Amino acid sequence: MTHPEAQELLAALSLDATSSEERAAILAHVAECDACARELGELRDAAHAMAQLAPAVPMDPARQARVRAHLLARAAERAESAVAPAPKPAKPVAIPMPPHRLTRFSTARLVAAAAIVLIGVALAVYAVSAGQRANAMQRDTQRLLVAQRGLEREIAARDSALADRQALLDAMTGAAVQVIEAGAPSARQPSGKMFWDQMSGQWTFVAHNLPRAAPNRTYQLWLITRAQRKISAGVFATSASGDALVIAHYPLAKDSLAAIAVIDEPSGGSPEPTTTPVLVGASR
Ligand SMILES: [Zn+2]
Repeated sequence: MTHPEAQELLAALSLDATSSEERAAILAHVAECDACARELGELRDAAHAMAQLAPAVPMDPARQARVRAHLLARAAERAESAVAPAPKPAKPVAIPMPPHRLTRFSTARLVAAAAIVLIGVALAVYAVSAGQRANAMQRDTQRLLVAQRGLEREIAARDSALADRQALLDAMTGAAVQVIEAGAPSARQPSGKMFWDQMSGQWTFVAHNLPRAAPNRTYQLWLITRAQRKISAGVFATSASGDALVIAHYPLAKDSLAAIAVIDEPSGGSPEPTTTPVLVGASR
């Protein structure tokens, strides 16, 4: 087999589309021809790649139909030009050729053209599916980013709630905190406890068993200094179970507090205490 004849059939051989007789003849040539050996290797690689690519291609059916129609049209064009009769020589019968050889070459050209088209299809389909995969990845990435932002917001909110609790704990348990107990002078059971953080000036007051204030009345928390100055630390209502938590900030010198008091006052509070304390507690 000559080099040009072998070249014609290499593509067909790479796709196992030759007769065993042709195959033996081509391989015999390939064994002695570096160019053909190289080309056959490349064609086999391409055919192998194509075989690997082809199954992994889920594709939108409408798009698939369009691509297929386009490629089939192109294949038909190539096949036509491949089988088109060669221009007649000046002397038509000067070099007669065996007809079976003509047929064989035409078939080989068709197979080669089909192989090229198939590789084209595989590459086009691969490009489309790679594009779809890229789009899907982009959507996934987008979703992940949104989820991550949500988590970050949640974590920030929890951190802030945790910081508030820590601050409250510090204000009640710090080394500079004085605790002032307040009990009821009457037979009732209400009680209160003031955590005075003398470092930060935070006053954290907790009360229990306080009866609900009467309509248009409220409880008011007072800080009473040794100089008999009465400082309002705010008004408050009790929960349904009679509990209350009041937090106030007021800087006061360490030794200037005489007592704290909870006093029943008109709604909105008074500038001065107006009734007898419900709870009182002396500072030590
Ligand atoms: Zn060769």
